[in-house]
Amino acid sequence: MIHVDPRTVILLSGVMSAFMAVILFALKRSYPPTIKGLGGWAVALTLVSVACILASFLGQAPNFIAISIPRLLLPTGLFLTYAGTQRFFGVTPRYWPWLVLIGVVVLVQMWFTFVEPSFMVRLVLSNALAICLFIAFANLIRKQGLSSIAKILALGVVLAMLAILLMRIATAFLWPVGQDLFDSSPQQLAYVTSFSFCVVLLSVSLILLAAERLHSEVAYLASHDSLTNALTRRHMNEVCATELARSQRSGRSMALLVMDLDHFKVINDTQGHQRGDQVLVDFVTMVNGLLRRPDQLGRFGGEEFVALLPETSLQEAMVVAERIRAACMAPGPQPRCTVSIGVSTNLEARDSVDTVIARADAAMYRAKAKGRNRVEGP
Ligand code: GH3
Ligand code: MG
Ligand code: MG
Repeated sequence: MIHVDPRTVILLSGVMSAFMAVILFALKRSYPPTIKGLGGWAVALTLVSVACILASFLGQAPNFIAISIPRLLLPTGLFLTYAGTQRFFGVTPRYWPWLVLIGVVVLVQMWFTFVEPSFMVRLVLSNALAICLFIAFANLIRKQGLSSIAKILALGVVLAMLAILLMRIATAFLWPVGQDLFDSSPQQLAYVTSFSFCVVLLSVSLILLAAERLHSEVAYLASHDSLTNALTRRHMNEVCATELARSQRSGRSMALLVMDLDHFKVINDTQGHQRGDQVLVDFVTMVNGLLRRPDQLGRFGGEEFVALLPETSLQEAMVVAERIRAACMAPGPQPRCTVSIGVSTNLEARDSVDTVIARADAAMYRAKAKGRNRVEGP
């Protein structure tokens, strides 16, 4: 039978946590500052690592080093993991209630170590604290929606840790336990091994969460214009191609609006480039407010935009275009600029995205030629 030594397991999980902390410190330096919580996770895993390494010297180092310090560092580290995850998900952590609770539990544990030694009381106390923490932790992740592998893994690990803690308390009442962490009873061994394993798995899931977030931020930056947040031309072309294929399958036409702001150069020249930028941002906000949910808006050039309207007839698209043109003219905080709009739909089975855009573009230039601030169809 394989012999597992709890001291070695705890030492190894301490070393692994130290590696994970180093990785998280490195990620904090290289990832964008919009990804919060990485520093908190790195500090948390450093504390967990120190706690595990010191605890592995139980019986070989003074009790203060091998018992008292780890008893404070481990729950603090686990709490900071939770607080870091809160920050990661945009929730403001409440540090003081938890830190005070941890302090009180540690002080009471000290009493039951040095004054009235009782392993059972200490075990119940530390596990009850950890159970409260992991219930809050599981709830936090669940509330984010289990939309990714990293979130599912993180929740799975936190629930596994919760189950281990609950089982440890239950088994402590059913079977007699020894007097310390390295008690050789099977339940103590199973507890120490599985909990240490879960600490490492938890840090892996945190690293995965951060990597997933980075990927989605990069994907967003690649597909959205940095000034207006409209879709980029390349992404819009992909979206249009997908919609065109769907439209050709379903037989329902899609419509494209090519919109170009009128005499925009004059705004830049007379009111400054910054004001021009603001007009572009306001235009996108205004158009997005007028479009339906499945519609998409992309920025094709400086002051030229394309709107994709899935499952829309030419008549319906002309109404939407006219609404956008009129909204530009309306008094209020809307852009102080008129717009010329060309509308087109996919008429034939062999239409490509380029041909539909080219027809809408030609219609837009006709609107310009006819005096601007107009909507023209194909
Ligand atoms: P027209 O009615 O014929 O479309 O005239 P226009 O002045 O709108 O068109 P033109 O192509 O002559 O000028 C477009 C201007 O848009 C020139 C360019 O400097 C400006 N522009 C392009 N991108 C941006 C941007 O991101 N911000 C600002 N402020 N201006 C931009
Ligand atoms: Mg223009
Ligand atoms: Mg233009």
